[in-house]
Amino acid sequence: MKGWAGFLLIGTGVFFILFSAIFFIAALAPPYDVSIIITAVVLLIIGFIPLGIFIYLKKNERPPEVRIEQNVNIGSDDLVSGKRRFKEMKCRSCSGPITSENVKLGDMGLSVICPYCGTTYSIEEDPIW
Ligand SMILES: [Zn+2]
Repeated sequence: MKGWAGFLLIGTGVFFILFSAIFFIAALAPPYDVSIIITAVVLLIIGFIPLGIFIYLKKNERPPEVRIEQNVNIGSDDLVSGKRRFKEMKCRSCSGPITSENVKLGDMGLSVICPYCGTTYSIEEDPIW
């Protein structure tokens, strides 16, 4: 259900219920007329119809789709909170320089693949506590 549709249903319902309340108040004062009370009751019923529809639609509504997007910017300093050991890292096997282009995001987190000898490392993060 669209937001404006719910707003319209509630607005209409509340309008008629308030309108009905005016008639109920009027019925308390003379001249005591049964038709005023009947009008008030009818308005009250009319007012509850859109509210009932609103509640019915709300109950049968599917929960909104939750979409989670993850934007990982490799090479940016806000990626991990702790101090990284990644800066100026050299391959432990062949001592080749490793740049941010060699960093890949995999199932186990960030990993570095040496472009020279193919050795794979995982980036370790110092805890901030
Ligand atoms: Zn290497």
